[in-house]
Amino acid sequence: MKEALLTILRDKNTKLDDFRACSRKLSSILAAEVAATIKQKITSIETSLAKANGFEISQDVVLIPILRSGIALLPSFMYFFDKAKVGFLGMRRDEKTALANMYYEKIPPLRQDEWILLLDPMIATGGSSILAIKKVMEKGAKEENISLIGIVAAPEGIHEIEKKYPKIKTHVVAIDEKLNDKKFIVPGLGDFGDRFFAAK
Ligand code: URA
Repeated sequence: MKEALLTILRDKNTKLDDFRACSRKLSSILAAEVAATIKQKITSIETSLAKANGFEISQDVVLIPILRSGIALLPSFMYFFDKAKVGFLGMRRDEKTALANMYYEKIPPLRQDEWILLLDPMIATGGSSILAIKKVMEKGAKEENISLIGIVAAPEGIHEIEKKYPKIKTHVVAIDEKLNDKKFIVPGLGDFGDRFFAAK
């Protein structure tokens, strides 16, 4: 189903309401996949019939959407990770240089054992991700406990991130062909934020 939803997102003729609906469905699938890998520990409870062994969540999660587009993934992740702290990082891409600039940061102090989920639908050059990883590590996060969650990535971006932070985990729906000369992902889906927020 993920591929079918992504195909609708890729289609330039997809209307705003369908684009939003498919983004919501896809982010729910992503959130469920990521939630399925959270650490659990053994616990015991009593059912109405007997004592039983079971599991409980044993890892704290911090969600950090990278503004703007990361906001689109946030509701689904907050649904699955309903006790997670939420921080925000605002990144703006310089239209000429395609370099990421951080214009806003609101991140709670982080612990080494917390699982940090950086939410960004489009991982293009990897510049925003690298800045975000650096920032959360300065705040106390441990590299191996940071995951980058996206919809589409470019191989160039994934390569840059892995080169700099080899312990980071990435979870995306598709890794596309390449970046074009304007650093957009090809075939990609265009500017995710502009399409999701109807900004143009
Ligand atoms: N951001 C987007 O929204 N799309 C791209 O292709 C690259 C960055």
